[in-house]
Amino acid sequence: LSQKIETPNIQDEIYGLTKSFNTMIEKLEQSFESQKQFSANAAHELRTPLAVLQVKLDVFEKEENHNIEEFTELISDMKKHTSRLSNLVISLLELTNLEEIPMENNIEVYSLIEEILWDLDSIAEKNNISLSLTGDTAKIIGDDTLLYRGFYNLIENAIKYNNHNGKVDVDIETKNNDVIIKISDTGIGIPTDMKERIFEPFVRVDKSRSREMGGAGLGLAITSEIIKKHGGSIEISDNMPKGTIFTVKILRL
Ligand code: ADP
Repeated sequence: LSQKIETPNIQDEIYGLTKSFNTMIEKLEQSFESQKQFSANAAHELRTPLAVLQVKLDVFEKEENHNIEEFTELISDMKKHTSRLSNLVISLLELTNLEEIPMENNIEVYSLIEEILWDLDSIAEKNNISLSLTGDTAKIIGDDTLLYRGFYNLIENAIKYNNHNGKVDVDIETKNNDVIIKISDTGIGIPTDMKERIFEPFVRVDKSRSREMGGAGLGLAITSEIIKKHGGSIEISDNMPKGTIFTVKILRL
């Protein structure tokens, strides 16, 4: 009698274990696959400027009797590509090192955004883009260097992917227990089918436009990790009639 009762139980248990084991393996495989994908993308992004540099140096070496203009051009090309490489390495390190940073400062959001707008002012002016800041003063707990970096990426993108004579508006609102920071631009917008994937590393709408401006598709991945680390959320919506709105919500102090 006892055997009759036990057998189906054991079978159920084995079935349950097998199922959860399979789910675990699937998850591990997925995580391994995305790590492999991350490394492959990183290697590709690092290889591109290196390959360009190598070709330029090879060509230069083969040709003889260089004049001063050719020297100057080579040096300026080398500077451009080495700075791209160095930015890429910094971004990759930032993305992988986020775990180790403690977050314990009181940060005044309005002043932080004001500082970022001040720092980006000359880039905006060069592209004839007007910047504005409205809203409340509010405090959050976090790390100021990380938050500076996170919001800098969003506002820099709002300038970079804007149109000539465009606008970037930042608004800070306090609602219930949250601080809501909205960054709206009048730029080229993000297609609906890209909105969910755009926070993944190396994802870009237009690779060549982004690369031309020195981007590797890591900025939004870094920003979303930073916001998550502060217990917040980030969302994208369309700005009417054109452009994008990034909305960040973080618990206020
Ligand atoms: P990067 O700018 O270096 O390419 P990001 O991760 O910051 O990398 O952004 C990923 C992509 O998202 C960009 O290449 C661009 O296609 C798109 N994007 C980001 N912000 C905006 C924006 N405000 N308007 C339009 N497109 C944007």
